[in-house]
Amino acid sequence: MKVIKQSFEIIQLPENALLLIEKAGRTCYKSEDKISEGTAEIFGKRLLDSQHESVLEHVSVSVRFITNRGVSHEIVRHRMCSFSQESTRYVNYNHKEMEFILPVWWEEWSMEQQNLWTKSIENAEKTYSELIALKTTPEKAREVLPNSLKTEIVVTANIREWRHIFQLRCSKKAHPQMRELMKTCCHEFKKKIPVLFDDIELE
Ligand SMILES: Cc1cc2nc3c(=O)[nH]c(=O)nc-3n(C[C@H](O)[C@H](O)[C@H](O)COP(=O)(O)OP(=O)(O)OC[C@H]3O[C@@H](n4cnc5c(N)ncnc54)[C@H](O)[C@@H]3O)c2cc1C
Repeated sequence: MKVIKQSFEIIQLPENALLLIEKAGRTCYKSEDKISEGTAEIFGKRLLDSQHESVLEHVSVSVRFITNRGVSHEIVRHRMCSFSQESTRYVNYNHKEMEFILPVWWEEWSMEQQNLWTKSIENAEKTYSELIALKTTPEKAREVLPNSLKTEIVVTANIREWRHIFQLRCSKKAHPQMRELMKTCCHEFKKKIPVLFDDIELE
């Protein structure tokens, strides 16, 4: 059994994202001749200010999240995305070390709470192994696996949808494990294309 921290990696974000958005958006006004150094940022900001956000749909970004099954269950509620997720039907966790995601509030927990969580995931792993030993298929043995089980999920969405996801999932109302993951991810988006994500509050 291994306990790891959740993480993410942006696996695809077009270098020329802003320029593509500018080229598409200026088609509406036939102002393509105004494209020059630095205009893409100004144009992108103008799109957001006027809520002309459909233009942001021309650029897609793919992110690999490594998180727990509880968080991934929430992520897949977002309908304007494409998903590819590690399958608990086809992966036999008895063939490799089973991984679990450390709760982000671990330090806030008392020793007693930490021990109970650890005992519970150890039991889940042991029971899973016993079921597999009884020739149970992984898709049936998975019944005993907890929300804390590690999963990997690749999410592809356009920039408009990523903005929506960050607005919902970085908010204080979001689940803490989800919020932490999306805040760090949004922070990275802000670094890469500041003008399109600057307005999203992270605190
Ligand atoms: C704090 C929080 C608590 C939640 N609690 C619960 C809960 O207790 N139970 C539960 O079941 N879910 C819960 N959810 C999930 C929530 O109901 C949504 O399913 C999820 O956040 C996806 O958001 P969305 O539908 O806005 O966006 P997406 O599915 O990402 O879609 C993006 C946008 O496209 C538009 N859209 C998409 N599909 C349609 C459609 N069919 N018709 C019209 N417009 C559409 C909407 O404008 C939508 O906002 C919670 C979410 C949050 C953030």
